[in-house]
Amino acid sequence: MTRGRTPLLLLAALLAASSGPSFAEDGADLLLQHGVFYPVQPPGRIEGSIAVRGGRIVFLGPDAEAARFRGPKTRVVDLAGRTVTPGLIDAHSHLLGLGRALAEVDLTAAPTYDEVIRRVREAAARAPQGSWVFGRGWDQNLWPGRQFPTHEALSAAVPDHPVWLTRVDGHAALVNTRAMAALGIDAATQDPSGGRFLRDAAGHPSGVLVDNAMNVLGRLPGASPEDNRRWLRAASRHCLALGLTTVTDMGVEAGEVAAYQSLRDAGELPLRAALFLTDDEVLLDTWFRRGPAIDPEARLTIRGVKMYADGALGSRGAALLEPYSDDPGNLGLLVTPGAHMEEVSRRAVAAGFQVGIHAIGDRGSLVALDAMEKALGGPRPEARFRLEHTQVVRVQDLERMARLGIIASMQPTHATSDMPWADERLGEARLERAYAWRKVLADGGRLALGSDFPVESADPRLGLYAAVTRQDLKGNPPGGWLPGERLTREEALRGFTLDAAWSLFLEKEVGSLEVGKRADLVVFARDIMTVPEAEIPRVEIDMTVVDGRVVHERGSTP
Ligand SMILES: [Zn+2]
Repeated sequence: MTRGRTPLLLLAALLAASSGPSFAEDGADLLLQHGVFYPVQPPGRIEGSIAVRGGRIVFLGPDAEAARFRGPKTRVVDLAGRTVTPGLIDAHSHLLGLGRALAEVDLTAAPTYDEVIRRVREAAARAPQGSWVFGRGWDQNLWPGRQFPTHEALSAAVPDHPVWLTRVDGHAALVNTRAMAALGIDAATQDPSGGRFLRDAAGHPSGVLVDNAMNVLGRLPGASPEDNRRWLRAASRHCLALGLTTVTDMGVEAGEVAAYQSLRDAGELPLRAALFLTDDEVLLDTWFRRGPAIDPEARLTIRGVKMYADGALGSRGAALLEPYSDDPGNLGLLVTPGAHMEEVSRRAVAAGFQVGIHAIGDRGSLVALDAMEKALGGPRPEARFRLEHTQVVRVQDLERMARLGIIASMQPTHATSDMPWADERLGEARLERAYAWRKVLADGGRLALGSDFPVESADPRLGLYAAVTRQDLKGNPPGGWLPGERLTREEALRGFTLDAAWSLFLEKEVGSLEVGKRADLVVFARDIMTVPEAEIPRVEIDMTVVDGRVVHERGSTP
C-alpha cells in the first residue's frame, strides 16, 4: 500500500461498509466459493474457495479465509458443492484435424459399409458438382466380416464427386473411381516405401490406401489460410465445452503453424495449444535455426517435432517383432529409417526442441527408442522426449523409457476401441504388454494422457472413464479388459493434467490448482472423482476457465 492511495481506500471502505461484505484492496477478478477442489498438486481434496487475479490463482482454501478476496469488481460464483479440477490437457491430439473433421462427413461407428456409402451419398448431394467430398472415421472392424472395403459400391453410388474417406486411425483411406482418376492411381502405380495400395487378384487398386500410399494427399486441393482459422475456431469451441484448456497438434506444416500464429496474435486463440512440427526438412531447418517459440503467456507453444516409426494396428501397419497373429508373414511397416529419427532427434535437442515419435508396435517402439537413446546420450528427463501411443512395447523397453526419462504418451480410449480385435492381431502373449499404463507407472515412468482426437472423441471424460475401467460405455467386458492395467482416478486425472503439462514443458504454468499458477480450471456439476464409474462420461461440464476468464458456461455457449 502507498500513502497516495489512502483516500481512495477510505472511500472504498465506506462504500464496502454500506454494501455489506468486507472490502479488500486486492479484490479477486473471480472467486469460486463453496466448492470441492482436486488440485492434483498437492494430491487430495479441498473444500472451500479459489480466488483468481490477473489470470493467476491467488488463493485456494477455506471459504472463511477467501472472503478477503471479495472486492467490488469480483465476479463471485457460488459452486454450491460442485467440483473443480485443473483444466484438462490432451497431451496428444490434432486440433486442426478436429476442426477439419467437424466439417467432414462423420463415418464413426457406421455399423456397415452400406451405411458409410449412405452418409457419403447424402453429403455429396449437397456438395457442388465435381467438388471433393471428405469423410473420416470408418472402421471395417465394426462391420460384418471385418473385411477392408473395395471401392466399387462407393464409386457406383457417388460417381460425380471425388471421394476421400480416412479410416478411423488415420492410417488408411478409401477413395472412389473419380478420386483415383484425379490422383493418378491405377494398376501401374507402384507401392511407395512404407505404404501400399490394396489390390484385387488382377492387381487393380481396390481403393484402399495404407500409410505412405496416402501421401498422394499432397495432390489434393489445399486448405486456405481462412479454412485453417475457421477450423481452429470451431475445434477450440468444441474442446472448451468439454473442459479441455490445453491441447496439442501433433504434426503441423508451415501453413498450419501460420494459422495458429495469426489467431494467437489476434487474441483469438481461446485455449492453449502446443504444436509439434511435422518432419519436413525445410520446416525443421527454419525452426531449428530460430529456436522454439516459448510464449510468455503460454498460449501458443512451438517446441516439438513429430516423427513416425510405424503405422497402426487396425490396418496392420504397426511394426511388430513377430508376425501378426491373424496375418502370418506380415510384420507391419517401419515408415522412417532409424538413422533419420536419430539425426532429427539430435538436432532437435541441440536446438531446444522435444521429440515425439509415433510407435505402436514393439518393433516400431524399439527402433524409435534406439534413435532417441542415441540422441539423448543417457537419462535426460528434462528433454521431455516422448513415445507416442506406446501401445505394444517390450518389457525391457518400458523400463528403458523410465530410465531415460522418455514420457509414455498414451490414449486410454485407444485401448477400449482396440480391445474387441487387438487379441486377433497380437495373440495372448503379446497382449500382456499392450496398452500397459500401470506397468509404465510401476517402472517409475511418466504417463501423459490424451485422446488422439479426431481419431477418438475429444471428450476427456471418456478418457478418464476408459482409464479407470478399461470397459466400453456399456460396461463390457465385466471387470475391464486386462484389468491389471486400470488406473486410479487420481492417476488418470494426473495424466490428463500435471503430467500432460510436464510433457509439454507447461508444468510451471498449468496442470494443477496451485497459488501462482495460471487459472485454468473446470467446474463439474457432480463430483467426477467419486460418482459411480458408469456415471463418469455423463458428469456435466458447467464451466471452463482459461487464464481466469470464463470461456465456456453450460447452456450459454453456442
Ligand atoms: Zn496422433
